[in-house]
Amino acid sequence: MASDPTRMCELLVGLDHVDVLDVEVEGLEVTITIETRQTVVGCSSCGVLARSKGRRSVRLADVNHGFRRVSVIWIKRRWFCPDPDCPMGSWTEEDRQIAHPRSLMLDRAARWVTEQVGRFARSVSEVAETLGCSWHTVNDAVLLYGEALIDLPGRFGEVNAIGLDEVLFLREGTYRTQRFSTQIVDVRRGQLLDVVPGRKGAEPKAWLEGQGPEWLAKIDYATLDLSGSYRAVFDAVIPNATQVADPFHVIKLANEKLDEARRRVQNETLGHRGRKDDPLYRGRRLLTRAKQRLGDHGEAKLMGLLKAGDPRGDVATAWTAKEAVRELYAHIDPELALEWVEALSDDMDNIEQPIEVRSLGRTLKRWKHQIAAWHESQVSNGPTEAVNNLIKRVKRAAFGFTKFRHYRIRALLYAGKPDWSQLQTVSPP
Ligand SMILES: [Zn+2]
Repeated sequence: MASDPTRMCELLVGLDHVDVLDVEVEGLEVTITIETRQTVVGCSSCGVLARSKGRRSVRLADVNHGFRRVSVIWIKRRWFCPDPDCPMGSWTEEDRQIAHPRSLMLDRAARWVTEQVGRFARSVSEVAETLGCSWHTVNDAVLLYGEALIDLPGRFGEVNAIGLDEVLFLREGTYRTQRFSTQIVDVRRGQLLDVVPGRKGAEPKAWLEGQGPEWLAKIDYATLDLSGSYRAVFDAVIPNATQVADPFHVIKLANEKLDEARRRVQNETLGHRGRKDDPLYRGRRLLTRAKQRLGDHGEAKLMGLLKAGDPRGDVATAWTAKEAVRELYAHIDPELALEWVEALSDDMDNIEQPIEVRSLGRTLKRWKHQIAAWHESQVSNGPTEAVNNLIKRVKRAAFGFTKFRHYRIRALLYAGKPDWSQLQTVSPP
């Protein structure tokens, strides 16, 4: 127990290896002035006793004390090497227990903001406002400590089912050019493993290869949207894993084809794009809704609209095709799934069928093994989508990211399930 008032103050400040020179309270602002006790220092290059070159003070943000905002003025010692042949010249003292040299926050405050922003998705501006420091001060600290935390080795263990999915993370420049990234997700645990730039195969392939053959050998299932580039990645890197087409994307495709059919028939019968009184246009939402969610009234209404606007029955056929695709996920035995997909795609890819239904049939045929594999594996990109939604929340809070690195850090802090208990001990480079 301390009884010396200065010592008590030092303990209260939480830095027991510094001298507190002054504590000033002005309203709700507290300013604490400190210095280190290192009065004798050797040159780190040649070992000669360094000489003082005066002081330079720096203001560091700290965590609040109740409603009071606290900042620390650290009067840093400057030194120079008296040996004229030594390349060291002069330098300013560093002490990482006080603050990281690239941060304008006290070390403990930097760790605190990293958790507030990274884990709880509070916005950088909100946290900066709370502490009374600048946006950049908070953001720099989150990136510095956050990156060290997410890149600790062993952040994730063995993975049995992996999913790839593309995500838009930035629009930039005058033309709002879209920039995509690929999420790599453990789809069983719903954990974001990493994000890599682009939506082509090269980056995810390099990432997977970087995990090593032992890790890759544990992957039994690989989920994907109906994208050829991700399929090529899995074919090349984990050829023994069972590929699973994500049900959400398969049903989405069936709905897109239905929508194409509706727009084509509308144009052919009325000579213009959909207007609000056109029967098919009025039915556009009922069409893409699942049949069991229509209700008797909705179904009767839809049939009436089709009768009025779909003379050759093309839209009705595309609707039936879409419902058949949905049905595929309702109650098909794993043993029969492949047969079912084959029969369905044969029916669709028939000269009698509307062009959109034939196109759907060809895609189903091309992906039949991946589609049927869902029934055995029951894994989907659902967790990938959930992770995407989490990340959207972060993106909104951050008003978009200017750099891929920043986006990666924030996404992994929020959805990558880092070990937050290690935040107290992690040491940024
Ligand atoms: Zn020297």
